[in-house]
Amino acid sequence: MQRIRHCVECPKCRTRYLIPCTPYRNGSYLVPTIKGSLEEYALYCSCNRGTVGSRWKWSEAKACEVSKEAYDRGYGTPDEIRLIETEPPEAWSVDVSRYLSDWRSLEKLRSLR
Ligand SMILES: [Zn+2]
Repeated sequence: MQRIRHCVECPKCRTRYLIPCTPYRNGSYLVPTIKGSLEEYALYCSCNRGTVGSRWKWSEAKACEVSKEAYDRGYGTPDEIRLIETEPPEAWSVDVSRYLSDWRSLEKLRSLR
């Protein structure tokens, strides 16, 4: 079974963290930078104690395929937590608008009849 989760990566030690699993067993944790908002997080990694955490927007978090071990732990190495290549959002919106204009012209054809 595939486990797909949104992850952030520590820019220093390259450990990847599953967002909902904070606080992590290695002493790292994620906190929202705006209280009550899920839009932006700061990652305080255990390799980087006492300094400012790296900041992540929810939209920047990467969808990853997570191994069972890393899933149970809540974090892991890039070998255990692999990025999934996804279509850029722009391509998706172009597809949707093309679909919509096809749909509109179909409607137009129908109304002509
Ligand atoms: Zn780190």
